[in-house]
Amino acid sequence: MTAADQTVPPGESVCWCCGGEFGSRDILRLGQHPEVGVCLQCARFLQRRAVEREDELHPSPGARARAVVRRGRDLVISHGWQQRPIIGQLLRRIDRYLP
Ligand SMILES: [Zn+2]
Repeated sequence: MTAADQTVPPGESVCWCCGGEFGSRDILRLGQHPEVGVCLQCARFLQRRAVEREDELHPSPGARARAVVRRGRDLVISHGWQQRPIIGQLLRRIDRYLP
């Protein structure tokens, strides 16, 4: 039993990426290591990092288009625009559909 197991209420799990506590429905487990789980947001983050790595290894017109999207996302985050009252909600909604 780990220290995390002792502090997390039963039925909840700790994300191994961000450290947040989530219900078991909101945690994805690794196939060969089911003791390791990540929350849905971190899983999406990791998926984007995996696509970025694939794009670096296999350049293509689609990879360049995704790089433009990533730079736009980085710009938004660096300015904190996603936290603004009205435009932030719109930007976060748009981001759900971007690669
Ligand atoms: Zn997480």
